[in-house]
Amino acid sequence: MEAWRRQLTDPVSAFPVAKAGPAHIATLKTFDPPLATLEGRRLTGADRRGKRLLFPTEDGELVVLVHLMTAGRLKFLHAGEKAPKAPAFVLEFQGGSKLVLTENARKKRAGVWLLTPEGAKAELDHLGPEALGVGADELGVILRRESRRLHALLRDQRALAGIGRAWANEILHTAKLSPYQLSTDLTDEDVERLSDAIDSELARGLELRERGADDAKTYRVHKRLGEPCHVCGMPLAQVDFEEHTIYYCPNCQTGGRVLKDRRLSRLLR
Ligand SMILES: [Zn+2]
Repeated sequence: MEAWRRQLTDPVSAFPVAKAGPAHIATLKTFDPPLATLEGRRLTGADRRGKRLLFPTEDGELVVLVHLMTAGRLKFLHAGEKAPKAPAFVLEFQGGSKLVLTENARKKRAGVWLLTPEGAKAELDHLGPEALGVGADELGVILRRESRRLHALLRDQRALAGIGRAWANEILHTAKLSPYQLSTDLTDEDVERLSDAIDSELARGLELRERGADDAKTYRVHKRLGEPCHVCGMPLAQVDFEEHTIYYCPNCQTGGRVLKDRRLSRLLR
């Protein structure tokens, strides 16, 4: 997300908004203020809070908030560049450039909110501290607040902002911790290692994304079932947990144990 923010901040502030919309009915989450109130206003650039991108207007009266979820993609198109067929949301700028949100998924989950600064603050207040740079002390407090499986806790934006399921896989692998380990069972040394892994992995991701690397070049564990672990060479494994598929190395992370599927639907079958 940080790489997106850096790429977008200059182009979106170059010209005032000429036309806001159209927006897919499932994508636009607010109707007051109406989208058209953006027209004629200039954005100051792109900010980020966790996995959300914020585009405040220069006059300080409105904020466009975008949450891409898993499948949403934001693209800046220069005047004359071909636009995707069925965008979920479009902001057109004077001069013809466009900010386009697409979501290649049957179920639309990405969202766009047009908010007042107060509304944006209320929307963001429940977010935890930024994961990158959180540090071992604060991370320790977060981990010990309640006993939760590490993969679920790392993904919880209210606990820690900015880690999705892919990076939870990468981070736990680097920290040599089991995705199922309970957060309250970590030793101080584990917490230290996890804190270091959060910083090193998110920094690595940021650098690769800025160089334009795709998922395949970025992730070393995520979606690599059966491929050799880049540390020990053993085949990577996967397990379904809640609504996610977790990828891990049984040798590096779980002492050789294979994790069991804990989806409730499986238990009830
Ligand atoms: Zn390994």
